[in-house]
Amino acid sequence: MANNRTFTMIKPDAFGAGNSGAILKMIEEAGFKIVAMKATKLSPEMAGKFYEVHSERPFYAALCAYMSSGPILPVILEKDNAVEDFRKLIGATNPADAAEGTIRKIFATSIEANAVHGSDSDENAAIEGNFFFSQFERVL
Ligand code: ATP
Ligand code: MG
Repeated sequence: MANNRTFTMIKPDAFGAGNSGAILKMIEEAGFKIVAMKATKLSPEMAGKFYEVHSERPFYAALCAYMSSGPILPVILEKDNAVEDFRKLIGATNPADAAEGTIRKIFATSIEANAVHGSDSDENAAIEGNFFFSQFERVL
């Protein structure tokens, strides 16, 4: 499978704090091209579907409530080695563990409100991008 695309969301904490522009600047400066992007808001049901893989985890209900608590910015991104390079750019799930200079280190406020999502495989990047965007909403 092609390894040149990943999917991200600017989460409600970062969007609400007005950090979307600063985060997109870091993403573009790291060499990622924007393929599709929009502002939207998830219902609790849609958040539940998106995070279905975590449905057995203790934080699932809180995560779905949080992810539907305000607007988000889903984005499809293109770059060589996109999934791995993007996970490096955002840093560890918990900002306390994230490396200096990573997006989560700079903008996340907790392990839950951690500013951005990043797909964990090429397969999930395709599934997650298709969750939010039709082919007519993509410029590349
Ligand atoms: P993401 O999938 O959002 O890129 P991730 O792959 O680093 O994050 P996952 O394990 O997939 O981390 O968890 C999904 C999301 O669930 C996290 O980004 C975070 O918002 C939330 N989360 C993860 N672990 C916890 C936890 N222990 N307590 C509360 N929320 C958590
Ligand atoms: Mg994940």
